[in-house]
Amino acid sequence: MSVLFRGVRVFSSSAPGGSTPPTDVLVLGARIAAIGATAAGLAPRDAVVVEGGRHLLMPGLINAHFHSPVNHMKGALPSLPLELFMLYESPALDALKPSPREAYLRTMLAALEMLRSGTTAVQDDAFFVPHPAPEIVDAVMQAYGDVGIRATLALDQPELPELDKLPFLAELLPAAMRAELAAPPAFGRADLLAAYDHLITRWHGQAEGRLGAAVSVSAPQRVSPDYFADLDALSRKHDLPFYAHMLETKLQRVLKDEQPRFGGRSLVRYTADLGLLSERMNVIHAIWVDEADLDLIAASGATVAHNPVSNLRLGSGVMPFHKLRERAIPICLGTDEAIADDAVNMWGVAKMAGLIHNITTPDPELWPTASEVLDCLFTGGARAMRRGDELGRVAVGHLADLTLIDLETLAFTPMNDLHRQLVYCENGSSVRLTMVAGRIVFDGTRVTTVNEAGLLAEARELFESRQPALAEARRQADRWLPAYKAMVARAAACDVGLSRWVGEAARQMETR
Ligand SMILES: [Zn+2]
Repeated sequence: MSVLFRGVRVFSSSAPGGSTPPTDVLVLGARIAAIGATAAGLAPRDAVVVEGGRHLLMPGLINAHFHSPVNHMKGALPSLPLELFMLYESPALDALKPSPREAYLRTMLAALEMLRSGTTAVQDDAFFVPHPAPEIVDAVMQAYGDVGIRATLALDQPELPELDKLPFLAELLPAAMRAELAAPPAFGRADLLAAYDHLITRWHGQAEGRLGAAVSVSAPQRVSPDYFADLDALSRKHDLPFYAHMLETKLQRVLKDEQPRFGGRSLVRYTADLGLLSERMNVIHAIWVDEADLDLIAASGATVAHNPVSNLRLGSGVMPFHKLRERAIPICLGTDEAIADDAVNMWGVAKMAGLIHNITTPDPELWPTASEVLDCLFTGGARAMRRGDELGRVAVGHLADLTLIDLETLAFTPMNDLHRQLVYCENGSSVRLTMVAGRIVFDGTRVTTVNEAGLLAEARELFESRQPALAEARRQADRWLPAYKAMVARAAACDVGLSRWVGEAARQMETR
């Protein structure tokens, strides 16, 4: 397929006004073949012509951190701290074990939302309950393949017993309950490596490179050093992004002194000491980091995934954005899971990233600019995916992952400053076309690749039928709540030498 965009403004990080004057852009196959006066002349006779006129052509948005298995649970839970939230979000009840069709449908829900709002690529750090069965992994990848989005999938699967991952619980639980949490997961290191073998062999590089594998430890405290090293070796061998949640909550900072294996070292320091903090790593969240952690991340070349909406929904705290930028740490943006953002819309994430840091320091010189936020969205996202040389820019030779924005909508009328209006005004409703690898997958009205209405109807029926089992699973999870609540309160009361909360929560910390 070849497509000629005629007379479009092209997004630019440096041009005056934030875009080029109207010009032509030719897409041949999966890539951008020409930009400018020569593009029309090079277009094949059968090229699809998209008249630009009032439009901006920009890189597709990249959702750099996401978990698809709870796509069907938007709005399902009240706001709670992460450790309490996780008790309820995906309970391991036999009756809730998904069928491949269910995994396919739930993956589709968010993929459709992303394509409709101009997101062309996603990094899916998918957890599988109870474990990553090959037919479920296949169903997720098949959905991404069918809908036409660019996607990498990792298996976000803990390998250690629950008791090893959390502080204080051993003292807070009665003996019988403690024993339940001391058992290692039935699906161990060898099983997980076999699941990765399936993922990589079957899917990595499929759909002409549009589908890929990544690796994930979930978080350093959730796996053994041996398995951590296994995944690093896989990541190095195939050049795969490596996902690791780090210091998302204050409780995770407290762990350093509460689990002997960390020996007083933060999760970042622990990872660096294992020799596993690398430029392939996506350090997810990095909220409760200190200056030494940030120096280690900067030295490693890792990218930090910033998920400001999820961080607010779970009350986790605010990532110290300007401290990362001071050290030139690359930042990418993500929604995190649909149960903790409640939208899979990167425009909302960009706006939140552009706003929340303004209340963390009174010095406006340190507040993110709109252009910085867009840089995180495009080049940060491309780097996180290990595709910095071919994604995130509208440039000749780059992959044609593109979003066309109508500049005559309310968000851009009148035009005052393109970059600021992209970050603070646009919500996805001005997206007129989404292209992935040169293929038009959303034409401004419909997703062109699948029967959207049919999939949504099927999803409504299927997930409604799951509600009784889900309610039962949540009732069963209630028995853990008192101990988990006490654990979170105890962690909150610890002095860890820094605070990433704002307002009353931070003040209480300072005056304690
Ligand atoms: Zn996450």
